[in-house]
Amino acid sequence: VSAQRPAASLVAIGDELLAGRIADGNSAAIAARLSGIGFGVRGFAVVGDDLEQIAELFSRCAGRDELVIATGGLGPTQDDLTREAAARAAGVELELREEVAAWLRGWFAARGRTMPDSNLRQAFFPAGADVLENRVGTAPGFRLRIGRGTLFALPGPPPEMSDMLERAVLPWARAAWPEREAAARGEFHLAGISESAFAERAGAWMERGAEPRMGVTAHTGVLSVSLLSRGAAAEAVLAARSAEFRARFAEEIYSDEQPDLAFSVGRILIERGVTLATAESCTGGMLAARITSVPGISAVYRGGWVTYADQAKQRELGVEAELLRSHGAVSEPVARAMAAGARRESGARAALALTGVAGPGGGTREKPVGLVFCGLALDGELEARGWRLPPVGREQVRTYAVNAALDLLRRALAR
Ligand code: ATP
Repeated sequence: VSAQRPAASLVAIGDELLAGRIADGNSAAIAARLSGIGFGVRGFAVVGDDLEQIAELFSRCAGRDELVIATGGLGPTQDDLTREAAARAAGVELELREEVAAWLRGWFAARGRTMPDSNLRQAFFPAGADVLENRVGTAPGFRLRIGRGTLFALPGPPPEMSDMLERAVLPWARAAWPEREAAARGEFHLAGISESAFAERAGAWMERGAEPRMGVTAHTGVLSVSLLSRGAAAEAVLAARSAEFRARFAEEIYSDEQPDLAFSVGRILIERGVTLATAESCTGGMLAARITSVPGISAVYRGGWVTYADQAKQRELGVEAELLRSHGAVSEPVARAMAAGARRESGARAALALTGVAGPGGGTREKPVGLVFCGLALDGELEARGWRLPPVGREQVRTYAVNAALDLLRRALAR
């Protein structure tokens, strides 16, 4: 790593990470932000709730890298050891910070509770540390000089971590290395295109030496693409490629800010005042759940049906028995009829319907696991689409189906 690109290492702390009960999403999120402002991320480490090991890791990382960012282990219990480990690595004592103790007591008092004694642990910090306010939870973070490096200790819960990262870490890091190499990072989120089709159309943009460097990750029907540019012209190079990218993938891009397709579709519905209803079979309400996770969606979302059995499709949505008999529940005509029924019964302008074979059993030669149909009724138009999704597991097929349905609606709204 050149002197122009300060090095950072990331440390994720907690037994549940080592045991594989949760995945380390914090380090990935921090790495993306740091690389976007010109830091070189040298490595990620995961360590359990072990005082010796955490302290040793802090010493090693801080002896080598300018910046060390740790997450987790700041809670009130005996296995939250980040404060002790940092003190040990820096060769200082822990000391009680009265102002933090008072703040913690106030936090509990405001909720009509008295602070448990154990929470006083959260008011002890290594001598010389700067305390970082936690605006989301109770665990304050801190910044501490260890050897030639600077350690930031942030809380484990992702919303608390990211609030502290944006407010305390990144501004400090920018100011501390004003001479660092420029970098610029952008991202795009795409739907309705496979990773291989994307790679083909992206062509040379995806080559290893390409500038900006492109990275792609696929998750159940959506792709996230990041662009990272370095050097004096980073901003301009990124802007030029972003403009080309927008033109080349105009139909597929649904956001350049956040990865949740439901959120993007929900915003469009709200902005345009298009009311929506849903009718689901194989996804059992997952589409409704995704839609209702969008803040403010009550302005346009009317509600939905989970019509799992054929009788429910007939009774609730008026799907004709004959249609079910001749085509089967998992078919384009039935998806279409479900959407039409949901639109008629709800009075919404748009209705989305899903029917499919989620697996792992129940597949046949004509109707294999992964076969999904989506119906869309929008104003006077009625359309349906089918997909043969990879039979990669019940949950994956269902999540994929929900994204496919959301994308069908998104594209129809864009026409
Ligand atoms: P508190 O105990 O006050 O909640 P903490 O700093 O002690 O905060 P941990 O107890 O280590 O944090 O983790 C709390 C929760 O935060 C974990 O159960 C997990 O859900 C989430 N979390 C912790 N570390 C990570 C990580 N690296 N990536 C994603 N989530 C994490």
